[in-house]
Order: sequence, then structure tokens, then C-alpha cells
Amino acid sequence: MKVCKFGGTSVASAEQIKKVASIIQADPKRKIVVVSAPGKRFDEDIKVTDLLIDLAAASLNKNEAEAELQAVVQRYGDIAKELDLNEEIVQVIEKDLRERLTLNLNQPELFVDQLKASGEDNNAKLIAAYFSSIGLEAEYVSPKEAGLLVSDEPGRARALPEAYENLNSLRDRKGVVVFPGFFGYSKDGVMMTFARGGSDITGSILAAAIHAELYENFTDVDSVFAANPRVVNNPVEIKRMTYREMRELSYAGFSVFHDEALMPAFQYSVPVCIKNTNNPSAPGTMIVAEREYSKSPVIGIAADGGFSTIYVSKYLMNRELGFGRRLLQILEDEEISYEHTPSGIDDLSVIVRSHQLTPEKEARIISRCREELKVDDVYIEHDFAMVVLVGEGMHNTLGLSARATTAISRVGANIEMINQGSSEVSLVFGIHEKDTNNVLKELYNEFFSTTAVLQ
Ligand code: ASP
Repeated sequence: MKVCKFGGTSVASAEQIKKVASIIQADPKRKIVVVSAPGKRFDEDIKVTDLLIDLAAASLNKNEAEAELQAVVQRYGDIAKELDLNEEIVQVIEKDLRERLTLNLNQPELFVDQLKASGEDNNAKLIAAYFSSIGLEAEYVSPKEAGLLVSDEPGRARALPEAYENLNSLRDRKGVVVFPGFFGYSKDGVMMTFARGGSDITGSILAAAIHAELYENFTDVDSVFAANPRVVNNPVEIKRMTYREMRELSYAGFSVFHDEALMPAFQYSVPVCIKNTNNPSAPGTMIVAEREYSKSPVIGIAADGGFSTIYVSKYLMNRELGFGRRLLQILEDEEISYEHTPSGIDDLSVIVRSHQLTPEKEARIISRCREELKVDDVYIEHDFAMVVLVGEGMHNTLGLSARATTAISRVGANIEMINQGSSEVSLVFGIHEKDTNNVLKELYNEFFSTTAVLQ
């Protein structure tokens, strides 16, 4: 049995949904179909999830949201019309949205979540109706009925262990199951969404729960590329990579597969294939437990901006018991998670995602470091990027860091930090954000210019 997930662009229009139907019909093993909300049909288009966020905001702030509501209904209406579906399905969707607008008004987080989740929920109902209309035996299954239990964290829920047991019974359903991505229910029956882009996570949970032989993640590219094609001209396609490699790459900007989606597939050893709805016969990229890496120690290079460093120094820091813990406690008190902590004998930098900081938080961190930790120096700097070289073969290839640092120096960029995690699947360079694209291009040339398609 295979679980297939179709992302926003794959279900953005009637034309795309017809392609989805042909893909499902082409392989009887494709039993469970997880769908996103309609995404962008063209570059300047707005995703239905974003329209729903606007709808929630208008309703909460202005108490008047008819125009925003009609914008959402219109999207489904256009799709239904082109798919020759009965007008009734659009009425069901409109009624559902109007109902949601009346619930949890005094709990804004839950209110926003229940509207966001409607994007996938209503799309799954519409797609199931379309499948049935063309004679494909299919049914919409709600995450509540199927038991997709999640933690009580609106906007960033996580699946609970019981969810896997409950969802296993989807195996026994007759016909194709059409399942909405992106949300589940807390034990108290409250709807909670995953992080943005979280339909990938639903697909992975389902694939793990039913012990699928394959999780096919359909998107709008033929494969995962070794570097961002918007920066590097014609990068090579990755044919096969490990879970660890994908995790490292998706950490730093490879948005083709959600980083939280890897865990369920990895834990239950379900191989993942990234495929293209617009070109389903292309083999795609396989994500598996192991690969042969002797010929290609580096599989990809990712780069992501938006990092800040909190730098502290104190003479004899290395001898002070609990210094690191107390510093990290200050960050925890401000609800800031950290990404890297490169350190010297008497100094330590904590690298964090900048969006977690505010001027008020920064001021509190600096004053607590001075007063409680009695540091000699403390400051916060912004506008850093992390460039990550990823590959299973890196740990036993000599001279790789030397090649990378030489390439970075060739474009005149200063390396602010180097971090080779103990897994040695990645080598991270902290640089100034302004140098990101030049560094990425140069590293790509260094490691891939003579390489053919990776195996
Ligand atoms: N529709 C949701 C979003 O835009 C989830 C997804 O598409 O995976 O974030």
C-alpha cells in the first residue's frame, strides 16, 4: 500500500486535480491520498490557507468578513464548476465556513486554527466528490473519525503516539481514502493545525501508521536538487538520499519536504519518494535509510538567512560550573530556541533564528547576562546566514573542509562560524547574509561542477 500526498500547487485548480485522479488510477496500490488546501495557480496568486488567515483576521478585528469569505468560496466554486461537480458541494463548503466563523471567537488561536484547517478539510471533501463522480471508489475520511490525535498546541501541534495505532485501521477501508492534511484533534476534541506546510507531516504519519511500502510526496518539481535552482543555474538532481541528509537540507532552506515530516517515515522505515504531479513518470528523489556514497560524499548544499548571534565572553568561562546552562536558561525564559552554540575557552555564541527576537527581549538578555552571569562582554548581531554542506560521505573524505573554506574565501566572504555536528553529515558555515548567493554558487561549483547526476 502507498500513501500519496499532494501539495498545494497539485490541487490548486480543476486541471491539477484531474492529474491527481489519473495518478491515483494508474496504480491500485495508491490507497491513501492526503491533500493540501488549494495553493497558488500562478506566481502572484494567493494560497487558500493565506486567504483563510485573512478571513480569520478580518472576522476577529473588524467583525465583518463577507468579502474575505467570498474569496475563499469562489476558489472552491471555480474548481467545482470546472470539474462538473454538483453546486451542492460548494454550498456544503460555504455552510462549513460560516459555522466555523461562529465558534471559539473568544480564543483567537483556536479560531484561526479552525479556519486554517478548513482549507484542507474542504478540499478533501471536494476531491473525494470528484473521484466518486468519475467512478473511482473513494471516500473522505475526517482526522477526528480516524483518530489523528495531536498535542494541544495550536499552529504547531505534534502527533501523539496513540494516533499511529488509531490510524492503522485505515488499511481496512474499501476504496481510496481521501484525507485532509495539516491538522488533527487534541484529546479534548479540539482542532489543531501542524506548522505551516504541515500536510507533508500528515502524509508521513499516515504512511508510518499503515506501514506503507512507500510514501509518495507529490509536488511541482521533478526531484530535489543539489542546490537552490533559483540561485544556481541548472543544479543536478538528487536521485537517492538518506533521511539524515534530507533532514539537514530541509533545515536550511530546502522547502520541498517539511523537516518535521521526516521523523514518522524514518522511525517506521517507510521510504519516501518526492515526485512531480506534472510529470509523474519522472523517477523523482528517493529518501531512504542508506545510500552508497563513495562517489558523491556531498549530496547537496543549502543556505538560509535570518539568523542572529548572541555573543558572550568571560575570562575563565571554561572553569565556571553551569555557565552554559544559566545562559540557555535566560533564552528559555524568553521562549527562544537555539540552533548552534560554537564556543571558545572563554567565549560562547548562541545562534538563533532572528524572528524569535524583539528589541525588548534583546535588552533583557543583555542586561541579565551582565547582571547574573557577570560576563566581560555581551552583544547581539543580526543578518547572518547558515550555509550547510550535506552528505553521508563527508565523515571519511579528507580535505573537504579545506576545499569548502577555500571556495568561500574566493568570493571574499568572511566565515563567522564553522560547526561540524558530531554526526558529520553536515558542515555548517555562518556567513553574512549579503554573501549567501555568491557563497552558494562557489561551493556548488567546487563540489558539483564536474559531477554527473548523483546516485
Ligand atoms: N495549506 C497549509 C499551508 O499552506 C499546509 C500545506 O499546504 O502543507 O501551510
